Amino acid sequence: MRELHSKRILVTGGAGFLGSHLCEFLLAKGHDVLCVDNFYTGTKANIAHLFGNPRFEFLRHDITFPLYVEVDEIYNLACPASPIHYQFDPVQTTKTSVHGAINMLGLAKRVKAKILQASTSEVYGDPQAHPQTENYWGHVNPIGLRSCYDEGKRCAETLFMDYRRQHNLRVKVARIFNTYGPRMHPNDGRVVSNFVIQALAGKPITIYGDGKQTRSFCYVDDMIRAFHALMNTPDDFTGPVNVGNPGEYTMLELAERIIALTESSSRLEFKPIPSDDPVRRRPDITLAREKLKWEPAVGLEDGLRQTIDYFRHAMRNESATA
Ligand code: NAD
Ligand code: UDP
Ligand code: UDP
Repeated sequence: MRELHSKRILVTGGAGFLGSHLCEFLLAKGHDVLCVDNFYTGTKANIAHLFGNPRFEFLRHDITFPLYVEVDEIYNLACPASPIHYQFDPVQTTKTSVHGAINMLGLAKRVKAKILQASTSEVYGDPQAHPQTENYWGHVNPIGLRSCYDEGKRCAETLFMDYRRQHNLRVKVARIFNTYGPRMHPNDGRVVSNFVIQALAGKPITIYGDGKQTRSFCYVDDMIRAFHALMNTPDDFTGPVNVGNPGEYTMLELAERIIALTESSSRLEFKPIPSDDPVRRRPDITLAREKLKWEPAVGLEDGLRQTIDYFRHAMRNESATA
């Protein structure tokens, strides 16, 4: 439903998976959306359908450099998000999280905008508390292959809280747990996209380690509703708040479901586990339920069906144009 007062909203990382859905959602609510992205992992194709909308504007820009625009709200999503992508240029990953946060906070401070940070469940590292609540400080390796992402996001959270304390900014921090759905990048090595593409192609499903590690998967539409609900909480609520779907599955269970839904003949292939791969992960979303009046509505089966349909079409189009 359209909102009463139209705002000018900046979405950094707006050409990415979550960002493109968020731009769409905000436009549908009647807002002006400025999408800022350097196409590091995002694509023009993700936002091509929005260019005809007069309320949509795109700016190609790297947020590690200052940005001077006039906006009412900022959703700061810019950052490579999958291990393959964020480990490709780890220094740039840390810069995007840290310098990017400083620039976006500096911008929010100058124009008095409200600002939301896309943080991550990775701030908990390989968690020793289960399920994870917001007051758990985490178990993060500061010098490993995942550190550029985990520590970058942790430092961004620190900056958000300090800009709040020092400059009285209106900030919101969302700790996002694994999210999946249409427009996931096909080559970013995420488990859902990998398994779906492998199953549809009849190729072996690559299970890392013994496949008994767990994750909780949230469908993209639920996540976008959570971002919007968090942005619109009263100013005295900053988070951090966990957003994700508490359903917890092993990678073996996920593979079985995807094989069944795609009616695939793929077999399982076991591969070495990447370093520092968290063993268990599930959000406690009590706080989100209370403060955001939000909970996920899409179950794994339904969400996977939508995702499978998306990749089926994408793969057909690709082979048609190849
Ligand atoms: P994505 O890679 O699809 O999107 C990130 C976008 O940021 C891309 O369009 C990329 O081009 C852009 N970008 C990267 N560096 C930039 C820079 N320096 N300047 C401008 N743009 C830049 O990833 P996503 O899954 O949509 O993730 C969006 C945000 O949510 C990220 O901050 C990520 O850390 C966070 N997050 C995502 C998940 C998930 O499961 N998808 C989980 C936890 C947190
Ligand atoms: N900044 C920006 N856009 C603005 C205002 C600031 O990109 O509209 C950047 C600016 O480059 C600065 C950073 O945000 O380095 C932090 O700004 P802040 O005002 O907090 O600090 P200072 O300008 O004192 O370094
Ligand atoms: N994984 C897997 N096979 C794959 C890709 C990933 O078994 O082809 C595992 C991976 O080791 C991890 C889980 O799936 O335990 C989730 O991986 P993903 O990269 O999607 O997210 P993250 O590790 O960042 O939660």
